[in-house]
Amino acid sequence: MTEQDSNSVKKKILLIDDDEENLKSLQGTLESAGFEIKTCSSSARAMEYIGDFKPDLAIMELLLGEPDGYTLLRQIRKSKDYSSLKVIILTVKSFEFDRVRSFELGADAFFNKPISPEELLKNVSRTMDYRPHLTFWGTRGSLPSPGSETIKYGGNTSCIEVRLSQEKILILDAGTGIRKLGLKLMQEGGKKKINLLLTHPHWDHIFGLPFFVPTYIPGNEVSIYGARHGDISLREVVAGQMESIYFPITIKEFGARSYFQELSEGEYFIDDVKVQTHFLNHPGQTLGYRIWCGEKSFAYITDNELPPPPPDSTGPSHKRKKLINFLKDVDLLIHDSSYTDQEYKTRVGWGHPPLSELLSLALAANAKELKLFHHEPDHTDQDIEKMVEFSLERLKKEGSSMKCSAAAEGEHIFF
Ligand SMILES: [Zn+2]
Ligand SMILES: [Zn+2]
Repeated sequence: MTEQDSNSVKKKILLIDDDEENLKSLQGTLESAGFEIKTCSSSARAMEYIGDFKPDLAIMELLLGEPDGYTLLRQIRKSKDYSSLKVIILTVKSFEFDRVRSFELGADAFFNKPISPEELLKNVSRTMDYRPHLTFWGTRGSLPSPGSETIKYGGNTSCIEVRLSQEKILILDAGTGIRKLGLKLMQEGGKKKINLLLTHPHWDHIFGLPFFVPTYIPGNEVSIYGARHGDISLREVVAGQMESIYFPITIKEFGARSYFQELSEGEYFIDDVKVQTHFLNHPGQTLGYRIWCGEKSFAYITDNELPPPPPDSTGPSHKRKKLINFLKDVDLLIHDSSYTDQEYKTRVGWGHPPLSELLSLALAANAKELKLFHHEPDHTDQDIEKMVEFSLERLKKEGSSMKCSAAAEGEHIFF
C-alpha cells in the first residue's frame, strides 16, 4: 500500500526537522499520498505537538537543536501515552553508530537523506503497517523429515523467528529451518543484529547454525544465548558441532561479531525484550522461554517430558506446579507434542510428553492458545491432524475456550 483509500480515516504523520525546506518537500510528498501532515521545526515543542496532534507516525531528524533527536526519541519511548508511537529517523547523520544508537533507543526505521519520494512512501507504509509477529521456519523434532507426507506441517527442525519490530530480531533455536530464515534476512539487506536463543544443544536444535549465512557476514552482530552444560561453556557447546571431524569449517570463520551469553533460570532483557527462562524436564540442560511483547506473552517450551502423575497422587507435582506458574495465563503456548498417549508408553524417559499431559498442563496454566510443536519425524500430516482433533475434543469436554492447532512451517502469528 502506498496510497490511502480516500474513504478511510486519514493516517496522521508528524514531521520533526529544523530545516524548513526539507519539511516542505516531505509534506508535499506525503500529503499527495493522502496522509494528514503536521510539521514541527522546534524539537523543544515536539512532545507538545505529539500530544495535540496524536500522530500515527513521526518522521524526525537527529540533528536538531535542544533537545537533539536522541533525547527526543528517549522522551517519546519513556512517555506514558506515546511510548508505542512509530518513529522513522530520516537524517543527515550517516555513521553506523547513529543507526545502531537509533535502534537501541527504539526507532522503528532509519534512513539517510536524501530519500526519493517512492522510497519514502514505501517505507512509511511498511513501518505503519508493521505488526509484531512470529514465523515458524521449522516445526519438526529430532530429525528433518521432508517428503510428500509432511508438506502441510513441514520437515525442517525447530526454528522460530520473532520480530517485535523490523530491526529487533530474536530467533528461537537453530534447527534446519534457520537456513532459509538466514537467506530471507540476507535479502532484507542492511546490517543485522540477531539474538539467537537456544533451548538446548541436541542436534535437531542446532544443526542448522553452520548454514545460517548472516553469521559469516562482517558487520552483522550475532548474540547466542543458552545454558552452559556443567564444565562445558555455551561457546564450546556451539563450537563442538563445527569441529573438523564433523564439519569442514570451524566457528572461527564466523565473520559477524559473535557473542555467547549464558543463561540460567530468571528474567532477562534481551534487546529490551523481557525474556523469562525455566529449566525443562529433558536430558541435559534445556531452557524454556516466555517472551513478552507489551502486555502479551508467548512461551516456547520444547523439549519437555510431562510424566503422568502416579495413581495415588492428589495433585500436580512440585516441578509441574512451578512450570504451571511460569506459564500462568500465557497468550500462546508453543509446546513439544512429540507423542500420542499410546506412543509415550514405550518412550518413557526420552524427554517428550504424551499429548494428554500436555493438554492438562495447558489447561492448568490457563493458556489462551496452544500450538502443537516438535512434531515426531514419523508423524504424517494426517497423524498430526488426528492429534489436533484429539486435543480439541478434550478441550471441549473440559469446557475450555482455548484455541488449539499444530504449528506449520511458514505460518505467521501476529501479536
Ligand atoms: Zn528436539
Ligand atoms: Zn532434545
